[in-house]
Amino acid sequence: MRMSRLVAPTLREDPAEAEVASHKLMLRAGMIRKVAAGVYNLLPLGFRAITKVTQIVREEMLNSGAQEVLMPTLLPKEIWEESGRWGEYGKELFRISDRHEHEFCLGPTHEEIITSLARDAVKSYQKLPVTLFQIQTKFRDEIRPRFGVMRSREFIMKDAYSFHTSEASLDEEYKNMRAAYSRIFDRMGLNYCIQDADSGLMGGKFSEEFHVIADSGEEELANGKRGIEVGHIFKLGTKYSAKMNCVYIDEENKEQPMIMGCYGIGISRIVAAAIEQGHDKDGIIWPTALAPFKVAVVPVDSKDKEQLETAEKIYRELGSEALLDDRDLRIGVKLKDIDLIGIPVKVIVGPKGLKEGKVEVKLRKSGELSMVPINEAVNHVRNIR
Ligand code: ATP
Ligand code: MG
Repeated sequence: MRMSRLVAPTLREDPAEAEVASHKLMLRAGMIRKVAAGVYNLLPLGFRAITKVTQIVREEMLNSGAQEVLMPTLLPKEIWEESGRWGEYGKELFRISDRHEHEFCLGPTHEEIITSLARDAVKSYQKLPVTLFQIQTKFRDEIRPRFGVMRSREFIMKDAYSFHTSEASLDEEYKNMRAAYSRIFDRMGLNYCIQDADSGLMGGKFSEEFHVIADSGEEELANGKRGIEVGHIFKLGTKYSAKMNCVYIDEENKEQPMIMGCYGIGISRIVAAAIEQGHDKDGIIWPTALAPFKVAVVPVDSKDKEQLETAEKIYRELGSEALLDDRDLRIGVKLKDIDLIGIPVKVIVGPKGLKEGKVEVKLRKSGELSMVPINEAVNHVRNIR
């Protein structure tokens, strides 16, 4: 991507509306813009970071044997009445009615819908256990939407649901999901912990939360630090299946309620949590796995033909993870923007280096700087993790 074309309106000053670092930096780096309270546009850089999160989550879910589905966001009241949560959910549920006065809500979570799907599509013990997941927009009319995409009213979640014929089978899948979550947060390069939790409105018997550790976390963790809840896994038991008659036929031809688990990850919140954990006075410091782009190739003078041509060549070879800063701006201004956005690697093409046939490779996190021969630059960058 050429930075001269990139829609990333960076800001020099901290916006007054933002309290925490991630919210300030996502606005300043041109990743998000507010549409209404707790409702945001994701601009190209914001959406690319979200996509990085989504890809890791999807891969690990599929690798752990879960099947991907997509349920609607527009959900009829009748299904929610079966579980009793149409009444219980209160004001956090966005409720609407259609032209025929039929009532609906915008899904804040999908236990009811998945349970109705399972009772229709999975009839026999032979099809169990099964785990289904989706990555989808959720709606919650939060009492206090704040901190940008960290606590918004419309956000992206990965939610998975498992169905079993025994508690032992649920325990096994719960462990499988717990391990998948650990791999997900490891791959994202986040510092996190797991702790016992309250099951809240989901109900059920047992649950654990995954927290990214950060100063601005809303929750106090057992070890005294503060945490941002990024994932929550539950053993639900038969809470939904019993009420909603979600049964299977067992080996003796008898009907039994399915035993359930559910597993959520806050996709959009993870992006904010990663920034809470990784930033300095100059801007964002991404873990490489979540950076919207891995590398920025920067000619010191975009009008200099040799610099621009060398930069273009490296940029093209690096492929889709590279930005080219072809803007006609002072080098200091360009580098400030790139550090604000938090690009992990900069390849700087300047007159001094070119004389020796070299470019400068600089790392955002450590500040480490090396002079690399032009024809080795692409390989050098590819090997940076
Ligand atoms: P919280 O306690 O922070 O309100 P929750 O316990 O209600 O979250 P869950 O129902 O467990 O959330 O949802 C699964 C995940 O979705 C959470 O772990 C969190 O990462 C994310 N999430 C929940 N609410 C929001 C929100 N308003 N904005 C962004 N992400 C959210
Ligand atoms: Mg929770």
